[in-house]
Amino acid sequence: MVGGCSSLSSSTFIATTTLSSSLTPLIPRSFLFQTPLNPRKAAPLRCVSSLTMESQQKPILDFEKFDDGFVQKLVYDALVWSSLHGLVVGDKTYQKSGTVPGVGMMHAPIALLPTPFPESYWNQACEVAPIFNELVDRISLDGKFIQESLSRTKKADVFTSRLLDIHSKMLKSNKREDIRLGLHRSDYMLDEETKSLLQIEMNTISCSFPGFGRLVTELHQSLLRSHGDRLGLDSERVPRNASTSQFADAMAKAWLEYNNPRAVVMVVVQPDERNMKTLAEVENEGRVQVDGTLVVGGQAVSVVYYRSGYTPRDYPSESEWNARLLIEQSSAVKCPSIAYHLAGTKKIQQELAKPGVLERFMDNKDDIAKLRKCFAGLWSLDDPEIIKKAIEKPELFVMKPQREGGGNNIYGDDVRENLLRLQREGEEENAAYILMQRIFPKVSNVFLLREGVYHKDQAISELGVYGAYLRNKERVIINEQSGYLMRTKVSSSDEGGVAAGYAVLDSIYLN
Ligand code: ADP
Ligand code: MG
Repeated sequence: MVGGCSSLSSSTFIATTTLSSSLTPLIPRSFLFQTPLNPRKAAPLRCVSSLTMESQQKPILDFEKFDDGFVQKLVYDALVWSSLHGLVVGDKTYQKSGTVPGVGMMHAPIALLPTPFPESYWNQACEVAPIFNELVDRISLDGKFIQESLSRTKKADVFTSRLLDIHSKMLKSNKREDIRLGLHRSDYMLDEETKSLLQIEMNTISCSFPGFGRLVTELHQSLLRSHGDRLGLDSERVPRNASTSQFADAMAKAWLEYNNPRAVVMVVVQPDERNMKTLAEVENEGRVQVDGTLVVGGQAVSVVYYRSGYTPRDYPSESEWNARLLIEQSSAVKCPSIAYHLAGTKKIQQELAKPGVLERFMDNKDDIAKLRKCFAGLWSLDDPEIIKKAIEKPELFVMKPQREGGGNNIYGDDVRENLLRLQREGEEENAAYILMQRIFPKVSNVFLLREGVYHKDQAISELGVYGAYLRNKERVIINEQSGYLMRTKVSSSDEGGVAAGYAVLDSIYLN
């Protein structure tokens, strides 16, 4: 959970998060959005200008309407608001930033105003959130499905293979997770051509920005309350966003279910964050008692929240793998468990899109139809027809390895090159990837604000809808949509580094 965790830090039960929960961690800018915008690498974006396109979205931002003086006033207000409300990140130009709380802060990169988003699609994304939560839970109970779906991937991808090893150990020992906590974010883009809301991916581990999601929404609401008349915008059209408190509430309820008032919530972080536990520390200081209690540094742990553990970089040695296994073997509530983690892999996403697979997990036909409606085209690489198509028209596809955290996908001509390479090199490595239909969202005018300076640009957006799920055996305690985050990035691949690779936090304006 990167950034803006301030409301969590006040929760007394999180004993391991003292200092750095009030310190917004450093966020590499590239982390915000992951499509490479390097002009040599990125496929040309086939986007249509919002001014020329027939669309149900009216452009809310007519650049011509606003003089620089007015925009500067908005910028000033946004900067003051961000400073006062903790919409800030560590500024890497300060050496101590990131280790000393309160030193070297910079406002987070943001869109100055919310980006228009049709209300019907917003409703659709909210409506499917609890259905996706339930789906993840059901997949997590089907060990055979997880192992079988990922069996070929296992041979081609060492990281997935290690996760599967832990999963299979749990299956062998008949380990059951009675209390299951999922804090998810399902990401969507609105495909302009088909006019449909299509899922980019389902994140089941370490979903970033629930803290910032709420803050950027509140910033936009505040700006519209002050300047709405002049802008012609109504602050009420920016939907309320309680992502931070809803996630915190779900963690608190999981802690309650665990029912040990002395136990703490442990946040597992990457090594350059302080005052929480890294996987290596867990291996060093942790053990599981005979009754299953996880004890780390002498303290019983009720809930383990992973802010790391989703990329091979988080496992530089066997210690980290041992720690992951140790936690998994304990009775602590894991967010996520190994099964939830694997249920969020891209390979599973692709398996779910095959005919008949959703039916394995869901009975309700309406629910199945609602999920299926958001599925983009997804294929494995053992489909010769689709490989042929993708080699011919690589710009219509994205090639994805089994990785999280951004910067791993393959676009444009690189898709063709990689597919041809795989054809030459043989079958096995195929299974490390999936192919996905490329989604082309509408372009809209935005004011992007970073380092105190605004610039106008054309941008595309990705809506992430958070979902919280908590159950204890048969009792579903929470299953809800839990706020949202819009991420907006420039659609051009301008050179010079200023605009390139640059995305911002955003909220939505319903129209
Ligand atoms: P990660 O797990 O690394 O976040 P994603 O599947 O979310 O992987 O892809 C990263 C980014 O790539 C997304 O945020 C989105 O900007 C872009 N992207 C992914 N899939 C597609 C797609 N099918 N069409 C267009 N852009 C995509
Ligand atoms: Mg993603």
